[in-house]
Amino acid sequence: MMARMSAATEQKRPQAAPGVPDRLPTTMRASVLLAENTVEVQERPVPEAGPGEVLVRVGSVGVCGSDVHYFRHLRAGEFVVESPLVLGHEMGGTVVAVGAGVDASRIGERVAVDPQRPCHHCSQCLAGRYNLCPHMRFYATPPVDGAFAEYVTAPAEFAFPVADGLSDDAAALLEPLSVGIAAMRKARVVPGQRVLIAGAGPIGIITAQVARAFGAREVIVTDLVGPRRERALGFGATHAVDPRETDVTQLQVDAFIDASGAAPAITSGIRSVRGGGTAVLVGLGNPELSLPVSYIQDNEILLTGIFRYTDTWPLAAHLVASGQVDVDSLVTGRYDLGHAGDALDSDTDPNSLKSVVEPWH
Ligand SMILES: [Zn+2]
Ligand SMILES: [Zn+2]
Repeated sequence: MMARMSAATEQKRPQAAPGVPDRLPTTMRASVLLAENTVEVQERPVPEAGPGEVLVRVGSVGVCGSDVHYFRHLRAGEFVVESPLVLGHEMGGTVVAVGAGVDASRIGERVAVDPQRPCHHCSQCLAGRYNLCPHMRFYATPPVDGAFAEYVTAPAEFAFPVADGLSDDAAALLEPLSVGIAAMRKARVVPGQRVLIAGAGPIGIITAQVARAFGAREVIVTDLVGPRRERALGFGATHAVDPRETDVTQLQVDAFIDASGAAPAITSGIRSVRGGGTAVLVGLGNPELSLPVSYIQDNEILLTGIFRYTDTWPLAAHLVASGQVDVDSLVTGRYDLGHAGDALDSDTDPNSLKSVVEPWH
């Protein structure tokens, strides 16, 4: 039952499921990173859903900072692009075929994909920390291709069903929302608390909304850029402050989340935390920086980072479906596959917040 066009699968396919073609093509279009700042649409075989997998017709893919890094420098952290790579790891779409062992009733289901492919067998996976699996394969991370393509395969258990009311964009953006949820869980935020978030980019303002959903009474967002501070007020922030004008170290917050990666924001943010509070480093910036060690010691600040997320998609889907978090309004640009390069360059526009690639447009 490896073949996705098997007779049994075909017969069980629901009649007229929207977005599900009668017969899948054998080739598809994919945007492939070939060199620095160079992507090209290529014709590639449609991948086949293996055992335990679903084949997803990609509706929308968010452009993430790591995609931009690979596009410009052919590397992100320790990962280096050594052969052509399809970018994109924030994806939503529709199941159009299933592999062996997956219920064919899933065909036609709209899904959001957790882009992690952990091994499920190592000690980290068994401890529930599958984000730290040393055998992890992750979309759009060399050598694994991502979702700037018409179709992708995904493990069935990591393709999460979403409500009909959720757009494909929103389904895709459950990935950055998962980062915000992971940060808020690490920050141990409970109702009534005061939270400081540095950086009003996509992750900062998503995290601000999650903080409100977790019951934070005050959510203070800092950013050096006025229009970004203004925008944060529409996305969960109760206060937006210029850190050059307000001394954040006096704020005595319960939790600080850095979504800026900027050294001054991190050190002053840590000093803003009250005794026994938490500081979570999410933003990517300097790989190393100096820390206010005595402040952390004297106040027993719990300082940690996050690496991706575990078990966040169901909550992320709920937060959006229930209207507690708005991710649709983050989208400031839409691009087809032929303009994926423009999508990857869109962060040079200061008004751009989140770009999506729509492979079928
Ligand atoms: Zn991302
Ligand atoms: Zn593992």
